Amino acid sequence: MDQYFPQVLVIGAGQLARMMIEASTRLGIKVRVLANEKSESAAQISSDNFFGDYNKIEDLISACQNIEVVTFDHEHVPLDLLAQLEKIKVNVRPGIKALACSQNKIHMRETLEKAGISNPDWLATNSISKAQDFFQAHQKQIILKAATGGYDGKGVWEITELNQLNQFFTDPDSQWLLEEKVSFIRELAVQVVRSPSNQVVVYQPVETRQKNGICNEVIAPAPELAEALNIEIQQLGLKVAKELEIVGVFTIEMFQSQDGRILVNELAMRPHNSGHWSIDGAVTSQFENHLRAILDLPLGSPAPISKFTVMANILGGEFLDLYHPYLHCLARDPHLRVHLYGKSVKPGRKVGHVNVSGDDWSALLARARHAADYFTGNITE
Ligand code: ADP
Repeated sequence: MDQYFPQVLVIGAGQLARMMIEASTRLGIKVRVLANEKSESAAQISSDNFFGDYNKIEDLISACQNIEVVTFDHEHVPLDLLAQLEKIKVNVRPGIKALACSQNKIHMRETLEKAGISNPDWLATNSISKAQDFFQAHQKQIILKAATGGYDGKGVWEITELNQLNQFFTDPDSQWLLEEKVSFIRELAVQVVRSPSNQVVVYQPVETRQKNGICNEVIAPAPELAEALNIEIQQLGLKVAKELEIVGVFTIEMFQSQDGRILVNELAMRPHNSGHWSIDGAVTSQFENHLRAILDLPLGSPAPISKFTVMANILGGEFLDLYHPYLHCLARDPHLRVHLYGKSVKPGRKVGHVNVSGDDWSALLARARHAADYFTGNITE
């Protein structure tokens, strides 16, 4: 008879699911993927694909046969369908309370505020005159966000002129989130993991650098982060984990403001690009700890195994070929860890990332950036 080992269903078959499968093989955990088609990043490497539509309850129920826990590659599964799964005793992790926050930015701000966590000044409104007042009250520098559906900077606009607001407030039924434009020194992120037994581990906070609204480079840990801020971020992580009853890995994206405050930008209820460094730079990666957490296994250490690890995303460029730059980068820097997602190249699309570890973060950043630029085709030597 086969030995018992639990099986996880991952809804969605992007690169996050792919990296969960990689972690699962070492742990001996079986993973099934709910995918649209075989060409998707995780479906290519999964030995157990269920092809279906996550918007259809019949498909979700069928995919859940013999499954211990359901988790996610993305945050788009309708909450009412997840509630139906919970009703038939499927373990959905993270649960609906947590996912509701990552699906709606207004709900997230409300929830954080209720929990006493620092937000930038914000307003949710469908009224253009209230939006105009907010704009004036914040020195004509605000950020406008779509409550739902945004990602990688899509759904986020900087407003610098009063009349820019007109184009958004056309439908009285749609609410917009307005935020003060935070003057920040830099952006930070932290991965936190919580299990149903309430074991929690927090990774070291990292510095994230964005390009066109996309997290592009990560330095782990955030260089020269004051001890007091480090502790504040760790405590913030514990508080969010407890208040939102999150199970699994989640990410808090934050601003370090010029006046020394830590303000939450947003929450992602899953492994996140800002935690990819942990695959090569921590004792236990965010993907492995996510699987451990949702299965209520003891969590692995989040401790770094190097003074610094730097991650850079590989974005698609003009050239469809990745194999030539791949040969070049492997040969040029044997310490570089290259992760490719099996995705076809499109300009600006995330097709992989590189990690490199060592003592001098600026030298590591130069090496990681060189490789990423070479893959994209921005440089040729
Ligand atoms: P997405 O959900 O698309 O990732 P975010 O809410 O994270 O969008 O915003 C994308 C980027 O826009 C952030 O990484 C940050 O650089 C900038 N940004 C968002 N909100 C603010 C704000 N209140 N003040 C200043 N910059 C902001």
